[in-house]
Amino acid sequence: MDADFDGLIELQELDVEIRKVLSLLDKIPAQVETINRKIEAAVQTLALAREKLSQNQKKRRDLEGEVKDIKTQITKYKLQLNQVKTNREYQSLLKEIEENQKKIDLLEEEIIGELLNADQIEADIRAAVERDRDERAGFEEEKKTLAGEKEYWEGQVRELEARRRALLPRIPADQAGLYERISLRMGGQALSPVTDDFCTLCHMRIRPQMLSELVEKHEILLCENCGRILYCIKEKDGQEKDASGRL
Ligand SMILES: [Zn+2]
Repeated sequence: MDADFDGLIELQELDVEIRKVLSLLDKIPAQVETINRKIEAAVQTLALAREKLSQNQKKRRDLEGEVKDIKTQITKYKLQLNQVKTNREYQSLLKEIEENQKKIDLLEEEIIGELLNADQIEADIRAAVERDRDERAGFEEEKKTLAGEKEYWEGQVRELEARRRALLPRIPADQAGLYERISLRMGGQALSPVTDDFCTLCHMRIRPQMLSELVEKHEILLCENCGRILYCIKEKDGQEKDASGRL
């Protein structure tokens, strides 16, 4: 039976195209994931800055509480000053008051430091909110584009597969079966055109006798090296040539 080179070549072209589209589709989830990670990172940055602010506020409240307690203590000492009997006790109380006042000074310095930190944290939060707002729209837009591409390529795959299903029964079953077996073994590339006297895909020289059989007999011949189905490229005038254009 004559080899149905036209059918097999079309089948090969469809398979190449299907593989190409599937590999494009394969990449989309990772691209969406990358965008989601950027969105998540922005959310995290903001959450961290807000957490930092709340810690800062708590620290300030604690420090202010400490100052208040010490002030209460100082007031007590001052009241005791009027009641002490000896000079030694009086001096000792004065010392206590002085030391506590020093503690207050240190704490108040720390509070001022925390206030300055709070200004910086609040500025960071405002910047993060602004950045998130600016970037979010772009990210959502990118995701929408990817969803559109996914839908488009999925449609392409359905269409290509429908064409393949329609084509397959038109190719003699034994040739289609051979094609499928070789395709499976050769990573989806079952056919190889002849260029000059060589198998284009494995670069093995084809014996002259085999080459003339290929051109004259229209039979399925397999490359003796890679096992692919060899074919000559057909010109518009119907004459077959190898890929270098030789008749
Ligand atoms: Zn070969």
